[in-house]
Amino acid sequence: MSRIVGVSGEGFRPYEVVIGPGLLAGIAGISEVRPGRSVAVVSDETVFGLYGAGVVEALDAVGARAGSVVVPAGEASKSFGQLEHVLDGLMAHGLDRSSLVIALGGGVIGDLAGLAAALFMRGIDIVQVPTTLLAQVDSSVGGKTAIDTPRGKNLVGAFHQPRRVLADTDVLKTLPLRQLRSGWAEMLKHGLLGDAAYFDQLAAVGDPVGMADDALADAIERSVRIKAAVVGADEKEAGARALLNLGHTFGHALEAELGFDEDVLTHGEAVALGCVLAFGFSAREGLCPPSDVERVADVVARSGLPTDLASVAGFKAEGVLARMTEDKKAEGGRLTLVLARAIGEAFVARDVDAGRVRDFLNEAGA
Ligand code: NAD
Ligand code: MG
Repeated sequence: MSRIVGVSGEGFRPYEVVIGPGLLAGIAGISEVRPGRSVAVVSDETVFGLYGAGVVEALDAVGARAGSVVVPAGEASKSFGQLEHVLDGLMAHGLDRSSLVIALGGGVIGDLAGLAAALFMRGIDIVQVPTTLLAQVDSSVGGKTAIDTPRGKNLVGAFHQPRRVLADTDVLKTLPLRQLRSGWAEMLKHGLLGDAAYFDQLAAVGDPVGMADDALADAIERSVRIKAAVVGADEKEAGARALLNLGHTFGHALEAELGFDEDVLTHGEAVALGCVLAFGFSAREGLCPPSDVERVADVVARSGLPTDLASVAGFKAEGVLARMTEDKKAEGGRLTLVLARAIGEAFVARDVDAGRVRDFLNEAGA
């Protein structure tokens, strides 16, 4: 059984996020796929190897003119070089302004194919088919697309909302467990930022590994509802969308300090640790009860995600702080952080004193 979440806002055409098992098998049945329409499936080598042939065959079977563009798996594919490769592939397959891109993969493919679709002939339709938990609950919804440059992550991009999102929960069965937990971290974040009852629901599960299919689909739906509500209210991140950065200013600084080495710390692990730090700093500032910090750390730990700064790598407060102030979310050198008054009650704090963050990081073992 599929669950459907509508995404709508002032600046864009509404669309549906469909969540459930077996969606890949039915992909040729969506209204965006039509006989004679050119469709390019953009994917990475790993995902295409698992699911690509089935998707292309299903599209061919209904008379769509399907081609594929495949890039290496991993963050390094969010580059100018691979963007050019994808755009060239769309042209080679004869796509035109009325054609369709299908992004089949995790957040890397969603971001890369999304940007290619935004640029190709000034913008063509895209259907997002997220295959990681992180992409299903986060990156496939909301229309942000980007590539990285040597100067930083996501520095070149566009807003380009999809026509539809198909989140097939069956494909999560082949996802490496560390990737599953990475997506779970963003789900915990959704609860922490605005929905204490949802956080309780996730806490009751504990570890996402081994979770029942139906319960996982329920949780994905709830996360997508939270993301959709935030995006619907603030597509271009003028205000409320910034709450989605809970755990990300700390987390991004940790990732940057490690040179974005996913073997040491995945994005989701960084976000989980970042959420613990954001709550810890909030408590140190007297904004939130210390018991909430303990609860957050306990739930994060039971999910198989890191909670302790000192255990991950030899972080130095000064280094982490320098990364935090150079983060593109820091305006004019002042620190803007998402902090919390309680579990489920995050807010954007501007003008945070960097010295107090430094003291906190020192105490936290950096
Ligand atoms: P990813 O796309 O690199 O996927 C992780 C790994 O899992 C890859 O090796 C991939 O080949 C593999 N994989 C994917 N699906 C699989 C499956 N079903 N079975 C087996 N293996 C599978 O990483 P990700 O974590 O999905 O996404 C991270 C990216 O998303 C980052 O670049 C980040 O910047 C971006 N992101 C974007 C937004 C947004 O709003 N646009 C939000 C969050 C993250
Ligand atoms: Mg994130």
